[in-house]
Amino acid sequence: MKILFLGCGTSTGVPVIGCRCQVCSSQDPKNWRLRASILVEHRGKKILIDTSTDLRIQALRHSLTRIDAVLYTHPHADHLHGIDELRVFNLIQKESIPCYGNRETIERIRSMFRYIFEEHEEEGWKPNLETFTIEGPFSIGDVPVEPIEVYHGSMKVLSFRIDGMAYVTDCNHIPEGSMERLKGLDLLILDALRHKPHKTHFNIEGALEIVKELRPSRTILTHLSHNLDYYATNRSLPPGVELAYDGMEISL
Ligand SMILES: [Zn+2]
Ligand SMILES: [Zn+2]
Ligand SMILES: [Zn+2]
Repeated sequence: MKILFLGCGTSTGVPVIGCRCQVCSSQDPKNWRLRASILVEHRGKKILIDTSTDLRIQALRHSLTRIDAVLYTHPHADHLHGIDELRVFNLIQKESIPCYGNRETIERIRSMFRYIFEEHEEEGWKPNLETFTIEGPFSIGDVPVEPIEVYHGSMKVLSFRIDGMAYVTDCNHIPEGSMERLKGLDLLILDALRHKPHKTHFNIEGALEIVKELRPSRTILTHLSHNLDYYATNRSLPPGVELAYDGMEISL
């Protein structure tokens, strides 16, 4: 399995427009963060998790030419609003792209992006998508996908376990049953917004408590804000835990 970090930034991206803090002023590419999304390549399938606001530039940067399926964690704008960019992949692949999410996400997609699903000639060139509501574990080709529910404030968000990897973004609470299903991981990708506590995201301290309990072989923190300098934060983390950066590639 190969995992490519297309973006590891919080909803604003980093730098934040108009901000002159040290991280936003940094010229180091490891402090530049597009909106959070990963591409998982496994058993011949390329699976995109979320269509971030930055999907176009992410696809160009990494020469993406194929997406077999999209898994949606939740319908917040930073994870969803790049959905229109999928139409280029339809053109290349000459087929519809299956998109999976929980009931709330699929309903939001179909209402917020109604034009995609309506037959109106004047709407022009639009994505060709098929939506599927996730009810439990399922497969994409030979790739087993285990949806695991976590909490993002009061919102239920899906994290996804694919064999030994789990992508757990946008959350500040993992219920007990879900913790059980996140045990024995080779790689945990986990939300950690900043040092200060936040109402809907783990901060670094909260993320490290989860790591202590789950004990994955390796943990990569994502959905990072401009409060986290890549180098200074990494130096403060325990062994086996590190920050993501855009373009980071992991082979499992
Ligand atoms: Zn987010
Ligand atoms: Zn800043
Ligand atoms: Zn969110």
